[in-house]
Amino acid sequence: PARPIYAEQLPAGLQTISNIVAVSSCKGGVGKSTVAVNLAYTLADMGARVGIFDADVYGPSLPTMVSPENRLLVMNAEKKTIIPTEYMGVKLISFGFAGQGRAIMRGPMVSGVINQLLTTTEWGELDYLIIDMPPGTGDIQLTLCQVVPLTAAVIVTTPQKLSFIDVAKGVRMFSKLKVPCVAVVENMCHFDADGKRYYPFGRGSGSQVVQQFGIPHLFDLPIRPTLSASGDSGMPEVVADPQGEVSKIFQNLGVCV
Ligand code: ADP
Repeated sequence: PARPIYAEQLPAGLQTISNIVAVSSCKGGVGKSTVAVNLAYTLADMGARVGIFDADVYGPSLPTMVSPENRLLVMNAEKKTIIPTEYMGVKLISFGFAGQGRAIMRGPMVSGVINQLLTTTEWGELDYLIIDMPPGTGDIQLTLCQVVPLTAAVIVTTPQKLSFIDVAKGVRMFSKLKVPCVAVVENMCHFDADGKRYYPFGRGSGSQVVQQFGIPHLFDLPIRPTLSASGDSGMPEVVADPQGEVSKIFQNLGVCV
């Protein structure tokens, strides 16, 4: 971790977690949840104790991407805590596991509910908590980052959306909060067909981002039908194909966080 978390800075519910990593994007649909989930299962495969907090209230994708047996969160009424569900050893919290009534909340209410869900969960001892952030850099994101002392942030973007304005917004938010952005993932950067490599969204902006914003690592994640199929099937690609090209990319990302 780039920054130590001191126990006294942490809300009570997070005190047993060593590293809290935000996976963030400026827009929806760029692959943020795909990166968050595959990063989490890669870290678990490396031997870490891992949890995922899906903070995307309006479009929670964790319930589609993983298939735990128990699909509803359980409340410990006596302690007023929430027990996460679990799939292949990774602890999971998502609004998609919370039942009805989530989509009609307004911003300030959303922030309160996110913070409550995050800090009253019985996470137990974790090496990493991966937070799948809601897309954007607005109030909900800022409040969340203020409550949770993040150790690192990973920014996900796609090549055509890799405008400096977008990445800059994310970097600026995290640097205000003194959270190091350790990596940018440039998703859907290319695909291979007929022995050729295609760059449907253009190429070349990645290294500029690394230089301009001083982000130490840039990862290219290719377009892979298996990535979207595994996202829909409930078994992350890194679990389904641990020796594959995608798993190697996530192993390198795992080392950075
Ligand atoms: P976000 O969390 O940013 O909204 P998702 O991770 O949900 O984005 O991805 C959006 C859709 O694109 C999903 O259906 C996902 O399976 C698919 N997808 C993401 N990255 C890739 C990729 N590299 N190759 C193929 N499909 C992808």
